[in-house]
Amino acid sequence: MKPTVRVRFAPSPTGHLHIGNARTAILNWIFARKHQGVFVLRIEDSDRERSTASAEPAILEDLQWLGLNWDEGPQVGGDHGPYHQSQRLHLYAEYLNVLRTQGNAYPCYCKEEELEAKRQVALQRGENPRYDQKCLSLSTDEIRSFEKEGRKPVWRFRARRGEVKWEDLLKGEISFDGESFGDFVVVRPDGAPVYNFAAVVDDGLMKITHVIRGDDHVSNTPKQILIHEAFGWPLPQFCHIPMILGPDRTRLSKRHGATSMAELRIKGYLPKALINFLSLLSWSAESGDEVLPLERIIAEFDTKRMSKSPALFDPLKLNWMNGIYIRDMAIDELVQAALPFLQDSSLDTSHEFQLQKALELTRGGIETLSQFPEALEPFFRQQVQLTDGEASEIASRDSSQKIYWAFLRLLQNYDSMDSATFRMIMKQLQKETGIMGNELWVPIRVALMGRVHGPDLPASAEILGKQKCERFVRSLVY
Ligand code: GLU
Repeated sequence: MKPTVRVRFAPSPTGHLHIGNARTAILNWIFARKHQGVFVLRIEDSDRERSTASAEPAILEDLQWLGLNWDEGPQVGGDHGPYHQSQRLHLYAEYLNVLRTQGNAYPCYCKEEELEAKRQVALQRGENPRYDQKCLSLSTDEIRSFEKEGRKPVWRFRARRGEVKWEDLLKGEISFDGESFGDFVVVRPDGAPVYNFAAVVDDGLMKITHVIRGDDHVSNTPKQILIHEAFGWPLPQFCHIPMILGPDRTRLSKRHGATSMAELRIKGYLPKALINFLSLLSWSAESGDEVLPLERIIAEFDTKRMSKSPALFDPLKLNWMNGIYIRDMAIDELVQAALPFLQDSSLDTSHEFQLQKALELTRGGIETLSQFPEALEPFFRQQVQLTDGEASEIASRDSSQKIYWAFLRLLQNYDSMDSATFRMIMKQLQKETGIMGNELWVPIRVALMGRVHGPDLPASAEILGKQKCERFVRSLVY
């Protein structure tokens, strides 16, 4: 029987999830769901200086909002906890001890200035700077005297020489020359574990089978492999995914606009659209289909179809996809999603039926939920407002005035307004005024909606209702 797939997402709590991290989380989650595996959330907060108290709740909230539920981790617990590195310091101390007993870790008392000077010499010689193992065989007396001076050692891993290689699930065989990095630090003078060491202790003890992460970590992997080897743990399979570039092909950053989940949420992107879009930054379905519901992504996801080249983040494509998700949403779901965006506007959206109708009518032209207040505004205002000079000019034409007077008169024949009634009135209006087509419809649209362009006018008139139709047109006649 194959071992259960266990993957992890291991953010450092330094801020909100941004697109790159979110994509890593999404791919791990999809991989876990596809293989009926376990998705572990681990908070890499051992670096107290870089971690902030508010970042962790923000990350958890972003993950929850995206719908990426974790099977083990903060809040839910699990058999391989604790899931915060800051609560695992005793484990790092224990495993440092194992390395030490094996002779695979040793204390190094070299001063930073000393090491820096040696680094410079190596660089000048065109060599790869690496630790010269000066402290590898210190005598007990030497150690005692350093300790007496008050020096605190770092702990170095005794890296074996020779080739370190692995078969990356995405990039194929990757190999490093063990000579290139030398004996690296695993524990700092204050006892804090360095990322490479903590990550391996955690991945090993948490029985992680697949490490899916950004390819900025490729150079860490050989070091991690050596530590895994020292503990005699089976190696996880590594899968390094290419970075994400902005539309200008430079590394995605703040310059490219909204890049954090928090910003994207405020702008009105839907979690489902983001999952679809972000998963496609690294992977494509065999069918070539781009708009894929989650179930299909999970069913069709295959690491073999992941892209080896950097992914381009195209905000226009995200908008397009988000628009499709907005159009396809169940209407009551859309009402719930749109309400928070409408609450901040001054629109009175207390009539749910009217709101539903207006959302249904306008969503065809919408790409983000934050565009709804403006699109819905004509349906919820109390007075007509002509948005621009063109609308005002149209309303004041003699022909428009003629249309408005006739419209008001015809309206008296009806008790209420629905789209069929509106069409009937327009037909009679045409007969009465002899004006037709755009010449007839645009002035009416301007009067009812305040704009020259907009959604289907009969449906719009129905949402406005007879009273408003009458009030708006009346306010423009003279
Ligand atoms: N905390 C690391 C990061 O956020 C995790 C890297 C890894 O997945 O091993 O980059």
